[in-house]
Amino acid sequence: MDYAIATLGSHSALQILKGAKDEGFRTIAVCRSDHAFVYRHFGVADEIIEIPSYDDFYRVEDDLVSKNAILIPHASLIAYVNLKTIEEMRVLYYGNRRILYWESDRDRQRMWLERAGLNLPKVFKDPSEIDRLVIVKFQGARGGQGYFLAKSEREFRRKIGSARDYTIQEYVVGIPVYIHYFYSVIRGELELMGFDRRYESNVDGIGRIPANLQRDLKVTYTIVGNFPLMLRESLLPEVFRIGERVVEASRDICPPGIYGPFCLETVVTPDLKFYVFEISARIVAGTNVFIETSPYALIKHGRPMSTGRRIAVEIKEAIEQDRLKEILG
Ligand code: ADP
Repeated sequence: MDYAIATLGSHSALQILKGAKDEGFRTIAVCRSDHAFVYRHFGVADEIIEIPSYDDFYRVEDDLVSKNAILIPHASLIAYVNLKTIEEMRVLYYGNRRILYWESDRDRQRMWLERAGLNLPKVFKDPSEIDRLVIVKFQGARGGQGYFLAKSEREFRRKIGSARDYTIQEYVVGIPVYIHYFYSVIRGELELMGFDRRYESNVDGIGRIPANLQRDLKVTYTIVGNFPLMLRESLLPEVFRIGERVVEASRDICPPGIYGPFCLETVVTPDLKFYVFEISARIVAGTNVFIETSPYALIKHGRPMSTGRRIAVEIKEAIEQDRLKEILG
């Protein structure tokens, strides 16, 4: 049977579609009408289906089904299209759809990561417990918007305003490292695809201002872009170990577990411990820095390999081996 690869025109769509084309698939981009020109410009989609707004995504269901399209999820799909719509769509879907339930809630994520035995930042249930620097996060915040730091209950109360649905997390002082993994069902192996660090406004700009002028600025974490990163090679054993443990734990909580691309968002402290503050259970935008390849993926595959292309390779091998069912959730 002849399959197409489809995704929503946003986030990592250029990478996903280019990777699919490189592997010989027909490609479809479902785009908001005002974004479609970008995907036309880059020529990565054989077909563009335009929708007036993301709320209309469900309307393309029949079209995608009739075209035998396999939908590749990414963060924008999850953020802009209702979870229920995604869960109920009849479209072929790459990945374990039910893992979204575990990923979409901070407390459930924590259960998963604790089960995997990872180092996690401490969580403070009540503001009165704050005894160190904390970061206050909101449920469903997009790209870290609105997060703030506080050192005491008093400071917390001053900054929180009327917001209710928040999490108070220990702020781990170290450097952020985002780890890109790919678990291959077909090859039965966890692969390291690369690392990135984020470029966030305005926090990454504040260091450009003299300290005496920084004091009154409100720090925000709005993601704007990403940088590629190579890690000290001696840290790779731990990187693989924690990735393996996340995969194993996911098999208990949500069989058959997580597969395909995922990312652990970590802070590495001076004693070289990885503190995991979040998991993304699908391709992350940080992989876009390796649209050609990351050095790790190049070594592993002996040819340029992006995460988007890796997804297409997995699907191709599944089709060839008549195992497609195992990777569609
Ligand atoms: P989002 O929920 O939008 O993905 P993140 O959880 O990635 O946002 O956090 C936004 C920013 O805050 C990132 O720069 C991240 O490195 C930083 N950050 C998040 N949690 C912690 C933490 N516990 N300790 C230190 N930095 C953190």
